[in-house]
Amino acid sequence: MAIIITDECINCGACEPECPNNAIYESGAEWSISDGTSVRGSFTLENGEITDVDTRHSALSNEVYYIVPDKCTECKGFHDEPQCAAVCPVDCCIPDIGRVETEEQLLAKKDKLHPNG
Ligand code: SF4
Ligand code: SF4
Repeated sequence: MAIIITDECINCGACEPECPNNAIYESGAEWSISDGTSVRGSFTLENGEITDVDTRHSALSNEVYYIVPDKCTECKGFHDEPQCAAVCPVDCCIPDIGRVETEEQLLAKKDKLHPNG
């Protein structure tokens, strides 16, 4: 499952540079698939929407840092544990129980985001 940041976040910014998929954004910041990935062209989001990888999408939170679920692989393919959760000083990076994904699905997501390895 993807990791989600709760409203306990204190906006310290420690997690953002640790994410291997650039899935973490500051509150209010627009996100795109191409940030920190090597995928080019169009990309099908989990909700079925097809987007250009460079399209800027609206922030998912205007209060605290947020994680783009389409880009979070729980760090699979890079690290043994979610790096955001490892560095968060208030333990507010938690599994999103509403978005359960298998290890295979997470590794496939990693390959989709980084087709060149
Ligand atoms: S679990 Fe890993 S991939 Fe997901 S947001 Fe945190 S640092 Fe990024
Ligand atoms: S490390 Fe934790 S408290 Fe700091 S910005 Fe990230 S989620 Fe928020």
